[in-house]
Amino acid sequence: MTTDPWAERVAAIHRELGVPADYAARTGLPLVREPETLVEVSPGRTQRRHWLEPYAAARWASMEAAAEGDGIRVVLVSAWRSVDYQRGLIERKLARGEAIEDILAVNAAPGYSEHHGGRAVDLGVPGAAPLTEAFEHTDAFTWLTRNAERFGFALSYPRQNAHGIVYEPWHWAIPMDTTVA
Ligand SMILES: [Zn+2]
Repeated sequence: MTTDPWAERVAAIHRELGVPADYAARTGLPLVREPETLVEVSPGRTQRRHWLEPYAAARWASMEAAAEGDGIRVVLVSAWRSVDYQRGLIERKLARGEAIEDILAVNAAPGYSEHHGGRAVDLGVPGAAPLTEAFEHTDAFTWLTRNAERFGFALSYPRQNAHGIVYEPWHWAIPMDTTVA
């Protein structure tokens, strides 16, 4: 029995949703904690408001500006998301009759999404459907593969990733174990 309140809260949500007990072991995904502080990012540039933890917010702002300086428009589609948000997302899919195993191939279980930590962004380009594999054929994706590393961002879920998560060319994150200088 764990005495970590966060881990217990996540475990309780998993029991409610029917997430397999071996989920963490099977995917190799770490438990992600929500940050204490969040900063609004790209204010006024997107339809919805978005937040990241302070370090990632600064790095994202630099990367967004550098891309724009190179004539590349990268649109922030999603940034920080809470564990409760992830639970609601999965609950709605379950209510539509989707199987939990199928849902977990596309959505991380609550507590295991990189978005909870506030260091992950989903990116798109203006006028294109977001969160599709087609993003890999955009100039923005090419720019990111060449430049994101300079800002600490990496593609989290490449093709055939060890976590069993579908290929997500739009999802870039600063690894949670990156030390803030
Ligand atoms: Zn994502």
